[in-house]
Amino acid sequence: MDVKIAKNAGFCFGVKRAMNMAWNELEERENGIYALGPLIHNKQAVSKYEEKGLMTVDDLSNIPSNESVIIRSHGVGEEVYTKSKERDITVIDTTCPFVRKIHNIAKDFNEKGYKIIVIGDKKHPEVIGINGWCNNEAIIIKTLDEIETINFDPNEKYCVVFQTTINLDLYDSVVDKLSEKINNVVFKNTICSATKERQQSARELAREVDCMVVIGGKHSSNTQKLVNICSDIVPTFSIETKEELNKDDFSKYKVVGVTAGASTPEWIITEVIEFLESI
Ligand code: SF4
Repeated sequence: MDVKIAKNAGFCFGVKRAMNMAWNELEERENGIYALGPLIHNKQAVSKYEEKGLMTVDDLSNIPSNESVIIRSHGVGEEVYTKSKERDITVIDTTCPFVRKIHNIAKDFNEKGYKIIVIGDKKHPEVIGINGWCNNEAIIIKTLDEIETINFDPNEKYCVVFQTTINLDLYDSVVDKLSEKINNVVFKNTICSATKERQQSARELAREVDCMVVIGGKHSSNTQKLVNICSDIVPTFSIETKEELNKDDFSKYKVVGVTAGASTPEWIITEVIEFLESI
């Protein structure tokens, strides 16, 4: 069977960078290292890192002084850096540079007297982190409808940033709607193209093949979005690892396409490709 792989599949630049940095740190330490929050939402990857010595904690207070902590690609608020310093905890900072840029905007504009608006999900770690760079005073808006319910102060200046994984299509509508309601507003398009590119590659590949295999967590929303995109075009198998594949399922196909969600490590993708190529 012929196997084709989507141009953009699996880890984005920021996650790949963070996972490599974390792995290098683990290789250098005998006693392991702490991570603030799960490094990634992929159980196979997390187990592999835990075997190497990764210890995941939810709160900095669970880390002894003089230890080190990995900050994941989502980033964290300023307070985490301050508290780590106070307790002599060394920070291994794998915050994605695109997220770091939003932190800088939030801090800078907040210091200049702007009120920060974050378009995103208030429960998402990235948004919580951004809010932590403007005294946790940001107005966080998830949907266009929510904009209608907010009374903006006509005497305030506002700066709007976007969670990196927000759908790019939302940008123009948010700009239009907020411009109607606020006189003094600056927009910063901080949406990252990685998600869109991965979806576009999956769509293009699905049009060229007989069936698709999408690798990634069953509860990962970006993976399930890829599954939906592909299954609208061709029969699609949604799997987490190669163990879920059955040779007989592919007997009627000549060309199979493979893509993967943002948290799927390279080695899992390779195992799946090798299995499919063996059919
Ligand atoms: S900002 Fe983009 S590149 Fe960075 S971690 Fe998020 S999706 Fe990946």
